[in-house]
Amino acid sequence: MNGKLIIFSAPSGAGKTTIVKHLLQSGLPLEFSISACSRKPRTGEINGRDYYFLSEEEFRQKIQNNEFIEWEEVYAGNYYGTLRSEIERIWAKGKHVLFDIDVKGGVNLKKLFPDKTLSIFVEPPSVEELERRLIGRSTDDAETIRKRVDKAVYELGFADQFDVVIVNDILTEAQEKAIKIVSDFIVQ
Ligand code: ADP
Ligand code: 5GP
Repeated sequence: MNGKLIIFSAPSGAGKTTIVKHLLQSGLPLEFSISACSRKPRTGEINGRDYYFLSEEEFRQKIQNNEFIEWEEVYAGNYYGTLRSEIERIWAKGKHVLFDIDVKGGVNLKKLFPDKTLSIFVEPPSVEELERRLIGRSTDDAETIRKRVDKAVYELGFADQFDVVIVNDILTEAQEKAIKIVSDFIVQ
């Protein structure tokens, strides 16, 4: 099996997690890359399913040990990264690896495996709609939402460094498009 990497990146609130979950339920031979992170779990999140939740100290230790293929301080004081062992674990099961990582991480990972990787940028129809979605999701306080919206404006400038851009306006259309693009890529 020729194991591949499929990366979804987007400004927070664009709908990337929703689209990734849909793909994971589509029956395609994909498995989610569980990242390590140093933030606290949100209500309902489970260690080893949503993330490997580490202390900042544990995270730094793994950086020292060269255990990450990429990592970023995505928000001040909050580290996120992809463990090398995660990719090996998924390829060993005969599946392709599906990533939900930040925009800079997506660009860097594509550079590491250019031929095996499809990088997809999920774009919101507008920054105003992105802010409405973050408010509607009810997972972040007003200050966090303000920071995420500010960062989104910067991150939207990275779209042209991805292989494909999916504008997530009508969710069902964006999901269908994602399935078609990923299916075509993994049979290549
Ligand atoms: P991200 O992972 O990019 O931060 P989410 O997938 O968590 O974004 O989506 C943010 C919020 O927007 C969620 O509440 C989700 O249900 C909602 N959402 C996702 N896509 C759409 C869409 N096309 N139209 C309206 N709401 C959407
Ligand atoms: P959240 O805190 O909302 O779960 O995630 C915040 C951001 O971190 C999201 O943009 C998510 O894609 C990104 N992220 C999650 N895992 C990783 C990772 O392993 N590497 C990088 N670079 N970003 C990640």
